[in-house]
Amino acid sequence: MIFKKAQRVRRIITITRDTRDGILTYCKMNHPNEGILILRGKYKNGQVFIDGLVIPPFSHTGPTFAGFPHTFLPLDPSYVGTVHSHPSGVAKPSVTDLHNFFGFVSIIVQSPYEDDDLFAYDRDGNLLEMTVSLEKI
Ligand SMILES: [Zn+2]
Repeated sequence: MIFKKAQRVRRIITITRDTRDGILTYCKMNHPNEGILILRGKYKNGQVFIDGLVIPPFSHTGPTFAGFPHTFLPLDPSYVGTVHSHPSGVAKPSVTDLHNFFGFVSIIVQSPYEDDDLFAYDRDGNLLEMTVSLEKI
């Protein structure tokens, strides 16, 4: 019997419009500081579905950093990643961002935080495809 090498599934991110709008509002509120949130949803067959947000406990933010101690997080399988803002306006993951990667996806929002200012990355800093769903997932 010959086993086919498992195809590498490209990770695709789906986010509900309500969640995206919530992220943008939160980033605008925190500007000029960075804002950080935990993404809630589910992970299935290489696809990440995001339909909720959680404000992380003990988060600390400033103009160039945003973080929270992961050790305080409950092991919740619905936590699929994080989102944070880059008030500088460049949505490129920093070394620190990749170092603090949590879950399956890291979304970075660049100012001015409009609909097209969200970018999703994987653990290695590769840009992922992201679609906005108008319906509940
Ligand atoms: Zn960052």
